[in-house]
Amino acid sequence: AQLDTLDIIVLAALLLGTVAYFTKGTYWAVYGDPYGNSLATSNGAARAGKSRNIIEKMEEQDKNCVVFYGSQTGTAEDYASRLAKEGHSRFGLNTMVADLEDYDYENMDKFPNDKLAVFVLATYGEGEPTDNAVEFYEFIGGEDVTFSEGASAEDKPLQNLKYVAFGLGNNTYEHYNSMVRNVDKYLTKLGAKRLGAAGEGDDGAGTMEEDFLAWKEPMWAAVQEDMGLEEREAVYEAVFEITEKPDMDAEEDEVYLGEPNKNHLEGAQKGPFNANNPFIAPIAESSELFTAKDRNCLHMEINIAGSNLSYNTGDHIAVWPTNAGKEVDRFLSIMGLADKRHMVITVKGLDPTAKVPFPSPTTYDAAIRYHMEICAPVSRQLVSTIAQFSPNDDIKAEMVKLGSDKDYFHQKVIDRNLNLAQLLEILSNGAPWTKVPFSLMMEGLVKIQPRYYSISSSSLVQKNKISITAVVESLHKPNTPHVVKGVTTNYLLALKQKQHGEPEPDPHGLNYALTGPRNKYDGIHVPVHIRHSNFKLPSDPSKPIIMVGPGTGVAPFRGFVQERAAQAKAGKNVGKTVLFFGCRKKEEDFLYQNEWGQYKEALGDNFILHVAFSRDGPKKVYVQHKMEEWSEEINKLLEQKAYFYVCGDAANMAREVNTLLSKIISKHRDVSEAKGEEIVKAMRASSQYQEDVW
Ligand code: FAD
Repeated sequence: AQLDTLDIIVLAALLLGTVAYFTKGTYWAVYGDPYGNSLATSNGAARAGKSRNIIEKMEEQDKNCVVFYGSQTGTAEDYASRLAKEGHSRFGLNTMVADLEDYDYENMDKFPNDKLAVFVLATYGEGEPTDNAVEFYEFIGGEDVTFSEGASAEDKPLQNLKYVAFGLGNNTYEHYNSMVRNVDKYLTKLGAKRLGAAGEGDDGAGTMEEDFLAWKEPMWAAVQEDMGLEEREAVYEAVFEITEKPDMDAEEDEVYLGEPNKNHLEGAQKGPFNANNPFIAPIAESSELFTAKDRNCLHMEINIAGSNLSYNTGDHIAVWPTNAGKEVDRFLSIMGLADKRHMVITVKGLDPTAKVPFPSPTTYDAAIRYHMEICAPVSRQLVSTIAQFSPNDDIKAEMVKLGSDKDYFHQKVIDRNLNLAQLLEILSNGAPWTKVPFSLMMEGLVKIQPRYYSISSSSLVQKNKISITAVVESLHKPNTPHVVKGVTTNYLLALKQKQHGEPEPDPHGLNYALTGPRNKYDGIHVPVHIRHSNFKLPSDPSKPIIMVGPGTGVAPFRGFVQERAAQAKAGKNVGKTVLFFGCRKKEEDFLYQNEWGQYKEALGDNFILHVAFSRDGPKKVYVQHKMEEWSEEINKLLEQKAYFYVCGDAANMAREVNTLLSKIISKHRDVSEAKGEEIVKAMRASSQYQEDVW
């Protein structure tokens, strides 16, 4: 299946746009660093006048090990920090952590051979580098990569470079851990020497943390041997210095009470709005899409008028969450900080290379509420580290056991879905853990991450209003003490309840600070930014499209269909628009049930909706069954160069749909299954097959 010339031009333009978008990120990091100003005082000139020369930087700071990270959601960054800390505390390495986008790599041929480079690299989406790793990846994998001395690949210019590599991936994606695999391959080809095996963590199998822990011991042994290091008794050394300022008032103008950066602190918010600077957007409308009593799915219309933000159909919107008051209270209380929650604190990196994860001065309350991912599953390594600060020896023994016994840890912590404060609360019976340094919590917990949503409106139809369709996460396993409440979706639910003045606005007692720092989010507001994607309609609306989107996977397709209906209304020639949707029951969770008719009116017979209900009859019917039923039609449309889209669950559905499509093609074109698979691969390569999965 080939694309026509116009599509290739459009795809090339899209790709260029993406590169431009990514590279822009590089500059944001320099002048748009949200913490730049607050750090200028705490971290000195190191970050203010940033050098992009890593070797110089290491010499200057007397470092012999740099841990680079390519991170999208913060996990790789967290692992990088952990490796840096461990390298120092156990082996006496002078380590620093570095964001890949902060440095240039032309001089890697001069990297001294008594130093070590560690690469912690997440793979994103379809085998792509994370946003902050794009430039590095393009450089190191470039066909004509040349280094400062003009050396090219054949000269094996990186013979002095010793490195260690770990990848974070998801085996449900086709290009599993391709970042670490490729970077490892490129570095080896350039003559660099890897110490230990290149590790691979698998989020798909849910074993990321254990894969990481299992990989790092033999890796350290290899590093130790090569660099002649001696292991020492690891003592905890804080990365950050936290200073309480009892004579400062939290209400003073320069104190950050959750404002994401200086710009927001200083009054009216200013653009450009991006991943470092969210727009506090009004929620114009919100409603409930499910009729089921025990589950919620939100539809929200977010107004971006006047922000200078723009989106294209198929893009993602990122929502910046706030932790639930209930969990903030629990965390403060177990840390013994409840009475001091509004104490002003300043945070400073004890090492000039340490990046303070939030602006300061701030308060304990604001740091925990707005910046720390306190509700996430607990890492076993963090439990090990906290053990030494236990309130008493019995608890310490239990913490040591949890930290060292993988199965025990799973049984007691992971299987019970506990977050850190919940675990500590259970272990100490609610007694506070006052010996745990706050710095350790900052190091051990990741920065709170914006959550992405596939925009469910068309930019052609509503340029300034972004729709989202989000199912509210609520997970209660039997025999577990707490219900896991998704951080962002419950925050959005609370906003929706406030907007509608619902009688019991907070049925779960989560108690979100909905008005934000200094009431800046008052009314119904939420901080957002936009991430452009490559998930796009064909430029020519007369091309047929097939969409598979069960559950909230239908989100971008509502946008697609809305757009094509508008185009049809405007007299454009719009091709077949086929949507496979699936849910449990027609009467409970059939998303946008009342809207599809209106699109049908505009699109006529060109709009075909196939719906699968998994719990409405004696037989479970899924979108895959519907696809099989309509396989002949699917194949026919594909032969007419239909675009094929899948959105939603990455773990099972997307993969099954991929396999099924190969089978459908094989059956109806009378070719082998292997050939069917090949055809689907080629469709993916030419963007005739696109996925938006999570
Ligand atoms: P989180 O707090 O992040 O929790 C998520 C899940 O993690 C929980 O349900 C639970 O299973 C697990 N978990 C959390 N804490 C614990 C714990 N302590 N112990 C054990 N397990 C735990 N979602 C949509 O609804 N609609 C969309 O259109 C959509 N589009 C997306 C597009 C992209 C590109 C991506 C990457 C994701 C998309 N998502 C979408 C998913 C969305 O970003 C969020 O992941 C989702 O809404 C959950 O966020 P949350 O903060 O409410 O939950």
